[in-house]
Amino acid sequence: MCGIFGVHGHSDAVRLTQLGLYSLQHRGQESAGVVFVDEKGGARAVRSMGTMNDAMSAELERVKGVTAIGHTRYSTAGSSTIENAQPVLSRTRGGFVALAHNGNLTNAAELRMDLEERGSIFTSTMDSEVIVHRLARSNADRPEERLAEALCEVEGAYSLIVTMGDTLLAARDPRGWRPLVLGRLGDAPVFASETCALDIVGATYEREVQPGEVVAVDAEGMRSSFPLPRRELKRCVFEYVYFARPDSRVFGGSVDRARRALGKRLARECPAPGAELVFSVPDSSNSAALGFAEESGLPYELALIRNHYIGRTFIQPTQAGRDAKVKVKYNPVREVLEGKKVVMVDDSIVRGTTTRGLVALVRAAGAREVHMRVSSPPVTGPCYYGIDTPSREELIAARLTPEEIARDLGVDSLGYLSLEGMLASVPGGPHGFCHACFSGDYPTAPPTDPDKLRFGCGC
Ligand code: 5GP
Ligand code: SF4
Ligand code: MG
Repeated sequence: MCGIFGVHGHSDAVRLTQLGLYSLQHRGQESAGVVFVDEKGGARAVRSMGTMNDAMSAELERVKGVTAIGHTRYSTAGSSTIENAQPVLSRTRGGFVALAHNGNLTNAAELRMDLEERGSIFTSTMDSEVIVHRLARSNADRPEERLAEALCEVEGAYSLIVTMGDTLLAARDPRGWRPLVLGRLGDAPVFASETCALDIVGATYEREVQPGEVVAVDAEGMRSSFPLPRRELKRCVFEYVYFARPDSRVFGGSVDRARRALGKRLARECPAPGAELVFSVPDSSNSAALGFAEESGLPYELALIRNHYIGRTFIQPTQAGRDAKVKVKYNPVREVLEGKKVVMVDDSIVRGTTTRGLVALVRAAGAREVHMRVSSPPVTGPCYYGIDTPSREELIAARLTPEEIARDLGVDSLGYLSLEGMLASVPGGPHGFCHACFSGDYPTAPPTDPDKLRFGCGC
């Protein structure tokens, strides 16, 4: 998963993009990057591993651009290199091309092989680079026509922000897997993965970039086209469940409202009679746990405190074993838990590793009964469309039944939200969503060799 941001025709474009990326940091912490275009059409990239950091900010303070795009990247094991940091920046015969991509292309391996056979030399192992090569080969006149030509054989998930010369382009795949919104700051159009990035720069939300739409912005103004074949809508329901920030709107709906509705529905489907309090696993399940508490009439408590200063680079002390990582990130509040029958609400269980550690912590802090409630169904399959879920073998719900999972996690009871319940709770549901990792109903054929995708950005 990744976060993308872009602004056109603003004297402070670089600073705005920097701010936008701070708001999209939750969508990716492996690398961050900004490409900016100056008034003469020159383009430069500033990229760094890890999150937006002081060194990168200091460098960006010194530069100016009128158009800028940015990217925060989420990791895929094994491909954590600066070559794979985005935005991609290339010099083509038509000028500079820069591209920021959120999603995963499901036929990237085939397209790349085809391009390599025709002489293309790739500089990264990202699936996104395939689009840049196809753009460079296009002979169409207008930038939006070249982008449409580049995308016509591309399958899978993409929300894109691209610069070509002084044109800024934004595009979303026809199934609309990943979010992308359009806002405005004065006259300057601003594109971002989520509205929280519009808020931070003071831009007003205008609308979503539509599935299958290509938007082009240049000195002449804004043009919209729908050059890609229509497809059934498959927005990622996991954006509402876990990924997006609760202060954002994505897919035209409020993430906070979605999560509260998921929590309320969960309380109706899987009540916990006899429980005395509800708590969340901060921060991702805060809103769902609030919904659960409201619906069940139980008090909402802060039973787990999350340390916000633990970076992803933290090295797990080997002697402390598996639970060390959980302990470093979370600490229970004994005064809340001691002697109590509690409901622990989380948004999802993936591997089960974190949850197992948390249950042990909560019990050690004196909880008498632990009832786990999950505001999404069991994750039974991998995602091929941009979320870095592990392989099927690592998914606890692909191996065990809910009863076995409850035993494995050490909880007194375990309740998952049903698929129907989830789809009925999200704004604009129940239709038009991808739920493949929960239901096995994959909208495309899985990639011929899923491992090949691992060369990709996994963002
Ligand atoms: P588990 O018990 O499966 O190890 O971890 C569950 C936790 O992982 C939940 O709190 C959930 O919010 C979080 N989670 C769900 N999906 C993802 C993901 O794609 N990436 C990360 N880093 N955490 C996730
Ligand atoms: Fe989202 Fe799951 Fe579909 Fe991936 S498989 S796009 S995570 S709903
Ligand atoms: Mg979480």
